[in-house]
Amino acid sequence: MSHYDVLIVGTGHGGSHAAMALRQRGFTGTIAMVGDEVTYPYERPPLSKDYLAGEKPFERILIRPDTFWADRDIDLLTGSAVVSIDPVLHTATTAVGKTLHYQRLIWAAGGHAHRLNCPGHDVAGIHSIRSCEDVTRILQDLARTERVAVVGGGYIGLEAAATFRKLGKKVTLFETLDRVLARVTGETISRFFEQEHRTHGVDLRLRTSVQEIQATDGKVSGVRIDTGETIATEMVIVGIGIRPSINPLRSAGAHVANGVVVDEYGRTSLPDIFALGDCALHPNRFADGLVIRLESVQNANDMASTIAKFITGESEPYNAVPWFWSNQYDLRLQTVGLSGGHDLAIVRGSPETRSFSVVYLKDHKVIALDCVNAVKDYVQGRVLVESHMVVDPARLADPSIPLKESHRNNPE
Ligand SMILES: Cc1cc2nc3c(=O)[nH]c(=O)nc-3n(C[C@H](O)[C@H](O)[C@H](O)COP(=O)(O)OP(=O)(O)OC[C@H]3O[C@@H](n4cnc5c(N)ncnc54)[C@H](O)[C@@H]3O)c2cc1C
Repeated sequence: MSHYDVLIVGTGHGGSHAAMALRQRGFTGTIAMVGDEVTYPYERPPLSKDYLAGEKPFERILIRPDTFWADRDIDLLTGSAVVSIDPVLHTATTAVGKTLHYQRLIWAAGGHAHRLNCPGHDVAGIHSIRSCEDVTRILQDLARTERVAVVGGGYIGLEAAATFRKLGKKVTLFETLDRVLARVTGETISRFFEQEHRTHGVDLRLRTSVQEIQATDGKVSGVRIDTGETIATEMVIVGIGIRPSINPLRSAGAHVANGVVVDEYGRTSLPDIFALGDCALHPNRFADGLVIRLESVQNANDMASTIAKFITGESEPYNAVPWFWSNQYDLRLQTVGLSGGHDLAIVRGSPETRSFSVVYLKDHKVIALDCVNAVKDYVQGRVLVESHMVVDPARLADPSIPLKESHRNNPE
């Protein structure tokens, strides 16, 4: 049986960052990262962007060069899914029956893409975009694909739609709700991106749900929607969210809901087991202290740093400001803070110029910004979000006043 001082389950963003942060902080104990993927750790954001577009080879999306892990004395156990945990014996068992003993375990297993649950959900030609293997399969099918149907108007669906347009494919996108990005942003940003996608030739169908995937000779040939219409297509991309990968923790008795519940140091309810990233429900100051799950590189990395600090003797609660980005066409959306629950949204600049920001306030305080091709606002607005600054809305709305000066002459 192998024994590790720290065993990390998951070789994605959070798992890799946890291992790196431990070594950076001088941790000299044994570390292993065990992951079900067979590759060296790589970045996920390019999967729906430049990697899917064929603009970046796999080597350029590696989180670190492949020699990095051995050089830092970090054991990388790839192609091994952890299927059970014994919190009393402090052991994790892999799908092939290998038992790994840990002193501390960091669960960084992310999530699995939701699949469609309509008739035809399992025919060939339906893809998710969660792993590099998913993209390999998509690229293999691409030559025989003229039309792509994207299900889901979240970030991944929209980025994929933009990339497929760039590749010259005919794209139809279906979203059940009445606007895209409805769960993560305000209406101005949703409408702006809808307009952009339509301008770039995407057939965008809102308030539309997919009823059936039709197949010819076992391969996708069409998507039937709730109006009864069938849209012919050779490929379906499903971007309808993820299910946190937490089953072994649930079976081991951890406190779980839509994710594994952790405290402000990343500790689960099981002794010596931490969790982070996409699968972790954590208390977040920027959500009024509510327990939430965030799916972003920032959150995975910063939670990893919090846990690495805790393990190396510095207890500093998780307090990082959430940020996120998305690239679609020549647009870069940068978000800081969490806009959910805002009571006022102020637009700075004009969406027609394709460079503008939306500042979200709650109880007069700045809680979030969405910046489209507006790096300055993003950089300067971050401070307003971090400090929950009270700012005069009229000054915020005036793009000639830099955000860093918007709180001066504050009426409050
Ligand atoms: C296509 C795409 C585009 C994205 N774009 C952006 C973006 O632009 N900006 C942004 O901030 N975020 C983006 N994200 C989200 C971001 O990538 C995730 O939030 C981040 O990867 C979460 O890190 P994580 O460590 O929690 O999980 P992951 O990076 O998903 O890593 C989890 C790893 O654990 C493995 N695993 C799962 N179960 C087990 C098991 N039982 N045993 C062993 N290994 C297991 C998984 O296979 C995976 O390798 C994007 C995600 C995707 C999929």
